[in-house]
Amino acid sequence: MRLERFSLRLADPLETANGPIEAREGFLVRVGGPGGDGGRAEDGDEDGNGDGPASGLGEATPLPGWTESLDDCRAALDGGNPDATTPAARHGVSLARADADARRAGERLCDRLAAEGPFDSDGVTDAVPVNATVGDGTSEETADAVRDAVDEGFDAVKVKVGAREAAADRERLRAARDAAPDAELRADANGAWDRETAEEMLDAAADLGFAYVEQPLSAENLSGLASLRGRGVGVGVDESLASHSAREVLAADAADVLVLKPMALGGPDRTLDAARAARDAGADAVVTTTIDGVVARLGALHVAAAVPDVRACGLATGSLLAEDLGPDPAPVRDGEMTVPEGPGLAGGALDSLY
Ligand SMILES: [Mg+2]
Repeated sequence: MRLERFSLRLADPLETANGPIEAREGFLVRVGGPGGDGGRAEDGDEDGNGDGPASGLGEATPLPGWTESLDDCRAALDGGNPDATTPAARHGVSLARADADARRAGERLCDRLAAEGPFDSDGVTDAVPVNATVGDGTSEETADAVRDAVDEGFDAVKVKVGAREAAADRERLRAARDAAPDAELRADANGAWDRETAEEMLDAAADLGFAYVEQPLSAENLSGLASLRGRGVGVGVDESLASHSAREVLAADAADVLVLKPMALGGPDRTLDAARAARDAGADAVVTTTIDGVVARLGALHVAAAVPDVRACGLATGSLLAEDLGPDPAPVRDGEMTVPEGPGLAGGALDSLY
């Protein structure tokens, strides 16, 4: 396994629970060598594959608060066998191995993941619908941004809420609906509300025909989230999955929609297992990124493509980066991202990175 550290400047600083960050830092993970074994056996050895292209490519881009720190990620990668306590490191290795497997088999990563994972191969889609995201702003700004998204071809738009008083956010939701009468609208409160506000806002969202509201209550409050279901609008969980497994969330009946981040869950395999658990419990899965480089974004795209009848996913995040690891072979077009042709993550489109 070979690691290459990178830092990618964000177009705008990202507000996180741990303060704003200016760049996404992580490691490109390369496994195997020319005709190599895809990294199955060479963990921890000096496998001498610095003299040719790797056979599989992965990305470990930790996001503190969601995953381990950059230092812990590095230590886990150096140790060769990262586990659930270092999900970004595990993601990097798991993705690289899956890419190597798919390339060796001459299959797209999504087809390989489906063949080996919990869903059927015939459920794989070639193009994944993605949502636009509209940040905080006045009602007028919100309406303008929603209209722009629909004009660009997005059928699903997520509106960030929770930074304003409930009354102001209610007006924003109404403005969003007026601007996009036919779109699938979602709201994301990032855990900002108390119980009373959440009930009020969910009722407003239900009246406006929103599909679901993401994380209306804090991540830990699974019983509160469960009690908010059944009000005519779905309850989504995102932050809750940083501290609880998908199975714990589902066992608590806390969600209609699980927002799955492969980087935070520990890799493509774990994400598909969580999506399957959601499906078995009657919930939906939406795949998103943690604002990752192109390698992990493509990995998430392949995961999403392997989920049958997947709803619009939060994968349109490439534009949040001011620089990237390589060219993007799956740009957003008309509200969709098309899975690259050819074996592995990207066919030949990322050959320069191997
Ligand atoms: Mg969210």
